[in-house]
Amino acid sequence: MHPLPRSLDPIRGESVGSYLRRLSYRLGISPLYLANITGLQNTARQPHRMGRHALMELDEDTITAFGQATRLTRSEVASLTLASWKYSYPPTLRSFPGPAQPVRQDSWLLVTPRFCPQCLAGNGTDIGMLYGGPWKKEWHLPILFSCIEHGVFLSHECPHCGQPARDSAALMPRPNDHTLHPTQCRWTVETPGVRKRMSRACGYRLDGRTATSDELKPTAPLFALQREIIDSLTRKTPHHDAAAFFTDLRLVVAALTASWPGSSHLVELDYRDRVDAYVSGQTDFRRTGGGGIRRYKVVDALPRDAAAGAALCRRHVDSLPPKICTTAWPPSFVKDSETRPGAHPGTHSFHDTRKPALLNSGPPLNHLHARSG
Ligand SMILES: [Zn+2]
Ligand SMILES: [Zn+2]
Repeated sequence: MHPLPRSLDPIRGESVGSYLRRLSYRLGISPLYLANITGLQNTARQPHRMGRHALMELDEDTITAFGQATRLTRSEVASLTLASWKYSYPPTLRSFPGPAQPVRQDSWLLVTPRFCPQCLAGNGTDIGMLYGGPWKKEWHLPILFSCIEHGVFLSHECPHCGQPARDSAALMPRPNDHTLHPTQCRWTVETPGVRKRMSRACGYRLDGRTATSDELKPTAPLFALQREIIDSLTRKTPHHDAAAFFTDLRLVVAALTASWPGSSHLVELDYRDRVDAYVSGQTDFRRTGGGGIRRYKVVDALPRDAAAGAALCRRHVDSLPPKICTTAWPPSFVKDSETRPGAHPGTHSFHDTRKPALLNSGPPLNHLHARSG
């Protein structure tokens, strides 16, 4: 693989999508073309889109080729992916594409990242002024709901076009577009009467916007929780302990969502409308055996709205009373779980309030064990 005429140093914590945005802009080519000529993407198979595979983990040959082209070390290339969290944050491993893996990513992983506008504005260096700051890879994790450095909730949509309404399977929209600055919104703006090939990107600059005074800001307990979550991802914690922490968190959020609005008193007052708006829209449809379609409620997910997600995560396991079923949870939910054990992942485990039972019951952790041998 020939080295590119110019390259860029990766910024600590940035994602592969971020690096492609910045370097392609510097070279005046599209992110998709850059991915193709550096061995990151086979555009013969997917000529117009870029899936999540490069974000998850790169094989040895790809790391070598990309490193030669960009003049990055192997560890620098590997650090652009989410692979370092695959044993501590189970949804990462569950989302790796593979022959025995589901096509869709785990619902506790975002392919389309949220963002902090002030982080995207860069740190004032020459490189930052030219290409913006990093799109951080941690923004792909829905458990990262805030930026502690700038004291804000992460933004989940472009303030100009309002996209995306939900997560996407593509690493970035319009990867063939070579005109956009790394911090510009890449979502297509639909114009009536204009054919798709002639469409244009929104182009709104997402960097640098400061929060208005009436916007919700994370409270001190939410920042404390955010720090605990970050510590579980980064400190020298045994992977099993970190995975157990996140599985606990996931079960509690699923229980809160499943029993909404009966559980609304467990969520801080300022956030209830945001959670309510999320839960109300969490329906999906599934085909039944008889050819019909059944509507069901999605409970095992976190909202794109970071404030709503934070409010749901706030009720993590350590803050709950020891007798979960008999004290804190609405009778309707407990009754439902008693009559229909296993109605959704982990439901039956709420009969047993001891932590080990909780930890062993969730599908993410079981899956982790199967993969790690
Ligand atoms: Zn920030
Ligand atoms: Zn936009």
